[in-house]
Amino acid sequence: MPDTHSKTGQGNVIITKVDDLLNWARLSSIWPMGFGLACCAIEMMATNASHYDLDRIGVFPRPSPRQSDVMIVAGTVTFKMADRIRRLYEQMAEPRYVISMGSCSNCGGPYWEHGYHVVKGVDRIVPVDVYVPGCPPRPEALIGGILKLQEKIRGESMLGPKANPSQDRA
Ligand code: SF4
Repeated sequence: MPDTHSKTGQGNVIITKVDDLLNWARLSSIWPMGFGLACCAIEMMATNASHYDLDRIGVFPRPSPRQSDVMIVAGTVTFKMADRIRRLYEQMAEPRYVISMGSCSNCGGPYWEHGYHVVKGVDRIVPVDVYVPGCPPRPEALIGGILKLQEKIRGESMLGPKANPSQDRA
């Protein structure tokens, strides 16, 4: 945030916008609720394991929607699960975000044409902020998606218009 810092002649005083400060805190502590639905969940679990060390960028998985600010939908979204996904999303506090991980969650994946039981994209149930492509995406790709979400949060305003207008889409 170099453009918002200033110094006085009598000791250093750091001035920053409240929005920048809030966004820095929020993007540095993203707590995801993992929603493992199929094979993509294996890669999501691998991402959370020690080799990738997600803690270093402030990502700390939570078991409850009440404590989470991002839902990672990893896997095949069946019609039977759709209601549960929506209900859990609504139980998350605002501002809340969704990362769609993998082709199934993005668009139905291999079930796109003949999967009568599969929703053709989780964005038909909840608004999606970041799509991570792949079948399955590697942990590096999911980390890339999380970094994209951090970029999005950095540009938001908590004090101005609604922080996450995309929430109204679903
Ligand atoms: S996108 Fe591929 S790896 Fe992921 S849940 Fe669907 S079939 Fe499995």
